[in-house]
Amino acid sequence: MPELPEVEIYRRYVEKHALRQRIERVRVPDRRILRGVTAPALDRALRGRRLVSTRRHGKHLFVQVERSEWLYLHFGMTGDLHYYSDGETPRFSKVILDFTRNRHLAFEDARLFGAVSLVHEPEEFIARKRLGADPLDETFKPALFRDALRARRGAIKAVLMSQLVVAGLGNLYVDETLYQTSIHPLRPIAKLTDAEIASLHRTIKRVLNVVIERNESNRDLPRSFLTTHRAEGESCPKCGAPILRAVIAGRTTYYCDAHQR
Ligand SMILES: [Zn+2]
Repeated sequence: MPELPEVEIYRRYVEKHALRQRIERVRVPDRRILRGVTAPALDRALRGRRLVSTRRHGKHLFVQVERSEWLYLHFGMTGDLHYYSDGETPRFSKVILDFTRNRHLAFEDARLFGAVSLVHEPEEFIARKRLGADPLDETFKPALFRDALRARRGAIKAVLMSQLVVAGLGNLYVDETLYQTSIHPLRPIAKLTDAEIASLHRTIKRVLNVVIERNESNRDLPRSFLTTHRAEGESCPKCGAPILRAVIAGRTTYYCDAHQR
């Protein structure tokens, strides 16, 4: 399931391939992917225009259309982007932008948990969804994170999953962050020290940056990452204790009971 790092890779993919080309038309092979916009309205908003810039906030991707609204892409569980020239239309294409010179950008989604829409202003969207800060944005400062976290109640894993304090973390990288900071997923926010909160802030950024870099260069994640040991019978790469599995915050959680406290 795409989390922030995967959506950041998609953002770079759009930047690399799909900007500054005139859109000849928009095809919608499956309109169930559309949210709050009809296929003709989407075509009208994009036809004859160019994509000019991108913005990501958490797992949400916005692509600015010249003299128009922003194209909004949400990848759900199985969303994917495919830029191609001529040839075969990707199998699970839900929306296809046809550019001049027979180039195409397809938004694919086999399971339809994603969404394609138009938004007036990303800021307005972010405020309406009450999304927390994007952890790779320069506004994500230690004090901002600490205050936002201290304003919430409950267990750390559930709060980090909620998107209200930090936007973009999902099950996998919340587990990774807690593992790397030696904090138990069920620890109440009220029991975190300021030093632990500072460590969480640093670690969130570090984990996401490592995942983005490794994804981009097609390398595996480090063996010191919990993410590479998410299976029963695995041992903790830090202390050798068995990795445990439990359902926490409604999600399958892996952690080390020996060093995460
Ligand atoms: Zn351990």
